[in-house]
Amino acid sequence: MKKVCSFCGKTEAEANVLMTGISGYICDSCVQQAYRILDEAGALMPEVKSSGKFKIKKVPKPKEIKAYLDEYIIGQDEAKRYLSVAVYNHYKRLQQPEDPDGVEIEKSNIVMVGSTGTGKTLLARTIARLLDVPFTIVDATVFTEAGYVGEDVESILSRLLQVADYDLEAAQRGIVFIDEIDKIARKSDNPSITRDVSGEGVQQGLLKLLEGTMVNVPPKGGRKHPDQDYIHVDTHNILFICGGAFDGIERKIAQRLNTHVVGFNSVRNVRGIDKGNMMKYILPQDLKSFGLIPEIIGRLPVLTYLSPLDRTALRNILSEPKNSIIKQYVKLFEMDGIKLTFTDEALDMIVDKAVEYKLGARGLRSIVESVMNDAMFEEPSTRSRKFNVTGDYVKRQLDKSFLDKMNA
Ligand code: ADP
Repeated sequence: MKKVCSFCGKTEAEANVLMTGISGYICDSCVQQAYRILDEAGALMPEVKSSGKFKIKKVPKPKEIKAYLDEYIIGQDEAKRYLSVAVYNHYKRLQQPEDPDGVEIEKSNIVMVGSTGTGKTLLARTIARLLDVPFTIVDATVFTEAGYVGEDVESILSRLLQVADYDLEAAQRGIVFIDEIDKIARKSDNPSITRDVSGEGVQQGLLKLLEGTMVNVPPKGGRKHPDQDYIHVDTHNILFICGGAFDGIERKIAQRLNTHVVGFNSVRNVRGIDKGNMMKYILPQDLKSFGLIPEIIGRLPVLTYLSPLDRTALRNILSEPKNSIIKQYVKLFEMDGIKLTFTDEALDMIVDKAVEYKLGARGLRSIVESVMNDAMFEEPSTRSRKFNVTGDYVKRQLDKSFLDKMNA
């Protein structure tokens, strides 16, 4: 019988290669087409390999880590010190040879508490860049318990694998930043009355992951499918850094402090408390009062806080860090051969606006953007070599953009 491709009918002579199956044949072009279809359907198993992109480096000492963080992040000294030590210990632990005394160093996952826009994500991202390890940010609010619509907790790992270019070994010593961990807090502090599925179930799901376990990860993300092939990811050496604003936790801290100040030195204690920054007294039990289950808290042994950013901090954030917002605009103008400068008055005015808008450091960028927009539009087409931003200019531009929006 004449051999022909069972899919397209090409003969042996027409095809480059004709493969033989049990009861039919397939030619090379049909194989290629099938491959494309699988690829488009996201059904191809990515090749798990060492990409060489993430090399194991010598881990810098805590002081060196902190010095690096100082270049990019203003203030938050306490958080920087805690993070530097935790990260140093974590990677030291990875290099630990089998210990003859049987001492096994446990993982030190981290939880950072601080209002939004104070630099939590920036800290985690900067550390990952220094260490050159795969890093991903996930938002705890997207997780649901298996069976509900949303993402499974395991999807964290498929993202990590993707940024690691499917270099499994690199992903397994990466860093995952779980943002908004406070949003999966149990709504009530009393577990016996209401079982809050959305919060507690997700926390339970996270437990094993944080501690270290083998997880079957669907390669392309998404939900698990019974017929799918999985990549087996070991989470023992993945460092989890969690962050959350924990709105209202100050009240819990205050309550705790008050209950403790009944005693002979209570007056001194009450006086000594810095009411402006209650966050610095945070203890694990406050996270519990907030609604994190004790098991989760136990797996996040390093607890640190970020302070709210005051005027001085905002002013510094604008111009001090290595890639500060102002330095970025100066670079942009420099590319057009224009020397961009800001007067102190202009910078102060931008900070005033950020304080007024109560947007923290996040607001700085959008304010500078609306101040600079006209100049960025006009200047590249002019012959000017200099552009100086004064307080008056800032005021005019902000009033103008405000009016534009009012009239829109
Ligand atoms: P969080 O994760 O705490 O909500 P981010 O780290 O995402 O806040 O901060 C938002 C932006 O604000 C950052 O991209 C950064 O530009 C700026 N920023 C916030 N805090 C600081 C800080 N302490 N030092 C320098 N920049 C900061």
